[in-house]
Amino acid sequence: MTLTRDSAHALAARLEPIDRAFIDGAFSAASGGATFETINPATGQIIAKVAHCGTADVDRAVIAARRAFNDGAWSRAAPEFRKDVLLKLADLVRANAEEIAVLESIDSGKTVTDCLHEIGREVPNFFQWYGELADKSFGKVAPTGEQALALIVKEPAGVVGLVLPWNFPLLMAAWKMAPALAAGCSVLIKPAEQTPLSVLRLAELAQQAGVPDGVLNVLPGLGETTGQAIGRHPDIDIVSFTGSTEVGGYFLRYAGESNLKVVGLEMGGKSPFIVLDDADLTDDLIEHAAMSAFWNGGQNCSANMRQLVDASLAEEFAHRVTARAKAFVVGDPLDPATNIGAMVTQEHHNRVMGYVDRGSSEGARLLTGGAAGGPGYFIDPVVFAGLTPDMTIAREEIFGPVLGILPVRGIEEALKIACDTDYGLHATVFTRDIDRAIHMARRLPCGTISINGFSEGDVKTPFGGYKRSGSLARDNGTEAMDQYLQTKTIWISVARPAGT
Ligand code: NDP
Repeated sequence: MTLTRDSAHALAARLEPIDRAFIDGAFSAASGGATFETINPATGQIIAKVAHCGTADVDRAVIAARRAFNDGAWSRAAPEFRKDVLLKLADLVRANAEEIAVLESIDSGKTVTDCLHEIGREVPNFFQWYGELADKSFGKVAPTGEQALALIVKEPAGVVGLVLPWNFPLLMAAWKMAPALAAGCSVLIKPAEQTPLSVLRLAELAQQAGVPDGVLNVLPGLGETTGQAIGRHPDIDIVSFTGSTEVGGYFLRYAGESNLKVVGLEMGGKSPFIVLDDADLTDDLIEHAAMSAFWNGGQNCSANMRQLVDASLAEEFAHRVTARAKAFVVGDPLDPATNIGAMVTQEHHNRVMGYVDRGSSEGARLLTGGAAGGPGYFIDPVVFAGLTPDMTIAREEIFGPVLGILPVRGIEEALKIACDTDYGLHATVFTRDIDRAIHMARRLPCGTISINGFSEGDVKTPFGGYKRSGSLARDNGTEAMDQYLQTKTIWISVARPAGT
């Protein structure tokens, strides 16, 4: 990284964030001129007043998206064209990564180091990978007798609404937008109200890369207005949502009360990090335990906050994880030396601190951490020991840097407690015994299981949740592209030619 603290601050001071919606290839104010404020969580200062899109703006974007879809300039184009545009977009994101990373950092409170990793490497990789997939996805021919030829073909599903969270603003946009565009769909994006700026900049780059007008629209706004208008729109075919389980449920209701659109959901979690009694408490294991909880300030749906550690190891584990937690540098997100930035809003900071108070009052032992000094919304990583499965902090998703250690006795108790949750997004298991690892992986009802290392996988591997963490839809991998494709059977009757 070439950014330093000073150069990142200098770049932040020069930024002129886009504050208008992107509809049908043009940036415009919301109808009626409504706006909302986006705030820098590290300072509490207003960065910009951004267009707040209402129903009329969503209607306008859907009309443009449908027109573009029916025109076919994108939806029916040769897949090589979509590939070329997405590869160009990947290059443009790489070329502008530092500027967008600084923008993302001031808008979200995430560290500039994390933002640069996501925006310089992961986001372009998504556009590249799905761009490459566009001309490498084949249909099928079903087995028939000679009297027929049965083709099974995939077609772009239509107009897609993507409703995003604030914890990985541009990365979540790329997770969904790259496969949807590669499939040939027209797309509307609603970024989270806390973090609209990087996605608006991405729209500008997408236009530069050659995405035709109307194919991509970005509608900043609030959930109850913009999000709901997308969820209820009668001419949107699919919604893909990442966020809370509660709001995921609203989208199912919106679909039921409008046009029965398909709804793909990626929601919350309360994921376990399981250390069986045969695991070696290496530095690597401790690093994974700490990062699985504190990466992105714990504002991560797959964060492993329930750390189920065999009772024989729990004391040493607690001691070493606490030491590691204390070593995180919390503070100015624009300083590359910082490991954990600010919580996304004051309200969220208060919510997380409410859980810390609850943990203490319900009898968990606070080993380290708590609210750090302002004016931004900072929290030093928190470690609790002595959790029991019924405690609030062992059951509810906190979405902040609050790790809880729960001692367990043996593999079956670990499995039972790990499964005792409404969620099923992710789990990590540490053991030296391959048979026990596979037993756990098969029995845990989660979308992703990491063995001997915390990981969400990568662009090639599907990501999503069991139970209340998700629907059958998956982000990432070829499975993500399937979400945005319809399947059509073309049955051709074949007569025997005369004279044969
Ligand atoms: P939400 O589920 O409230 O928000 C996610 C998206 O849905 C945002 O774009 C939001 O808009 C929109 N939305 C909110 N309310 C509605 C509504 N009534 N109708 C339509 N759309 C709506 O998550 P939050 O950002 O508020 O975070 C709350 C909790 O959700 C977190 O603490 C965490 O537990 C969980 N979460 C999980 C994430 C994950 O990755 N699975 C990511 C983010 C949050 P707006 O921004 O205006 O609210």
